[in-house]
Amino acid sequence: MRRLVALMMRLMGRRTCEDVVSVLQDYFEGRLDPKLAAIIERHFQGCPDCTAFARTYHEVIKLSGAMSCDEIPAEVHDRVRKAIRERSAEAR
Ligand SMILES: [Zn+2]
Repeated sequence: MRRLVALMMRLMGRRTCEDVVSVLQDYFEGRLDPKLAAIIERHFQGCPDCTAFARTYHEVIKLSGAMSCDEIPAEVHDRVRKAIRERSAEAR
């Protein structure tokens, strides 16, 4: 919970793609604070990269079926986050 509050502060201060990606799992599981979810959604509106990623992420969750999101290997998370970071760096 403390982690979530810290994240929220960061997200409100500067909404980076990396931060958005890091809470996507909670977002799709409906575990996100509504205020934070609203911030994420606002970010989506201005960020095609995150919108595309969120869509893919959601598909992966659906396809994985019974598999819990917690079981998505950390390595996959890291790889995807890195890809997003690189792409958003290119866009600048
Ligand atoms: Zn973004």
